[in-house]
Amino acid sequence: MSDTLENPVINLELLIDEEKNKIVFVEAGKDFVDILFSFLTLPMGTIVRLIEMHQKSQSPGIGCFNNIYASVVSMSIKHFRTEACKQMLLYPGSLNHEKCQNLKMMIDDSEPIKCFMCPMFVRSGQCGKRYSNFNTSRCSCGNLMDEVLQFQGDGSGAGVGNSDGHASFIITDDLKVEVTSVGLTLTVLKDIGYTDCNKLVERIHDFNFQEVATLLECLFTSDTPLTDTFLNKKSSYGMKRIHKMLSPAFREDREESKADKIVTLNAYVRKKEGNILFVECGDDFVDLLFTFLAIPLESVWGIASNGTILGCIGNLCRSFKELSVVDSGREAKCVLPHYYKCQKQLLDVVTTHKPPTYYSYVSFSVDHFREYSLSENSDKPVVYEWDKLVPVISMDPKCEGDSNTTDESTTPSGGFMKRGKKFMVTDDLIITPSNSTSTIELLKEKQIRLDAVEVQVIIIRKEEAIRLLEASLVTFSALSTSLLAMEPASTSVPQSRLFKKPKIET
Ligand SMILES: [Zn+2]
Repeated sequence: MSDTLENPVINLELLIDEEKNKIVFVEAGKDFVDILFSFLTLPMGTIVRLIEMHQKSQSPGIGCFNNIYASVVSMSIKHFRTEACKQMLLYPGSLNHEKCQNLKMMIDDSEPIKCFMCPMFVRSGQCGKRYSNFNTSRCSCGNLMDEVLQFQGDGSGAGVGNSDGHASFIITDDLKVEVTSVGLTLTVLKDIGYTDCNKLVERIHDFNFQEVATLLECLFTSDTPLTDTFLNKKSSYGMKRIHKMLSPAFREDREESKADKIVTLNAYVRKKEGNILFVECGDDFVDLLFTFLAIPLESVWGIASNGTILGCIGNLCRSFKELSVVDSGREAKCVLPHYYKCQKQLLDVVTTHKPPTYYSYVSFSVDHFREYSLSENSDKPVVYEWDKLVPVISMDPKCEGDSNTTDESTTPSGGFMKRGKKFMVTDDLIITPSNSTSTIELLKEKQIRLDAVEVQVIIIRKEEAIRLLEASLVTFSALSTSLLAMEPASTSVPQSRLFKKPKIET
């Protein structure tokens, strides 16, 4: 098969056990390994979107993440503070985006983070000296900020891993990645239980774009993702999902948390079964859940407790760390673009980067101006006395028409949702605006008697937020599992997730 730009392929060597119809391991170069590792850098919302876009059959999805994403999709724009708020959740921005630009096959079709300014910026004195990362933001002069800031010398991608470009790797069916050596080959075979190679055959395989999507999907549905992808086996859905229960922290020992570090909600609990039917909450809890979509998979995994197992993701994360030069521990900070900053970020490992200040070079001698990306320094030579560099700072796209010019990075920012609204969140994290109709519908659907439900007030602090993130990834009953410490019998895929009505194509 030819290796063209339109249809790139990557040659892989598959070692197959023909008797069991199973991949023993794949030998591949850096191109393939970089694609595999790039999955870890994708925000959760992007992974959900990509899998749903490419999947051929209904898959159980990624814990409760599909429901969080679907809630953003179906939530009316009127509940969000600005149009940009919905946009940044549907297409999460990532600071890792540039690193993935040199991949031979790129499944992530997200746009890089761009900067936009008001087209009247130079001519009008009324414009705030700000840029936005969304072209739906409005300038203080009233105009839409939709002029793209062009930067000089945009850097090229640095590559996901730091692995040697010429090295060859062995990737086992459970996604352990190591640099090939004779010793390793023998160890891997022996570890799997082979005493000879009689039943093993080697096959050259052209890895193509469609298989990138299949592989990404199999990461969340299979314990044998390579076999399922390359030998076209149907995903088993019997993937290992183990959620380690953390013993609840001693509340008495904990310091009294400040109001900006807690979220309070009313949980409607089934008395007999002891599980949460739904919670009624404010915008702060919805902001917390929606932020989950912006967190990259590797950070979600890093935040989750050590006993958690979800298919082969743990193996892939471990290999990524071992093969990377930069050592980032399991507790690594997760840095999101600045506009994800919310007033109550209960997960303190999730931080936001400081948005750069750009300098617009304004020449008054010519009726023409250019912007330079001098990010946070202004040593561009001033050519004429009447030319000047105007610092342009970022604006929070979550607050529209805000004309104050204080540095956004130092002031607390609001969340994605309009203030003062109530929302309803089901155990599997379907989020809807709260109203009596939806409550009655839910009680009817689940056939629940009114006297079988009681209200509990639940306070969410950092620990609960961590457990909630983890349970969202591994279980299909995130609220009961994380907030009531219920044994997640539901780590197995509920029937309802497998036999959903097929989506109507539009
Ligand atoms: Zn303006």
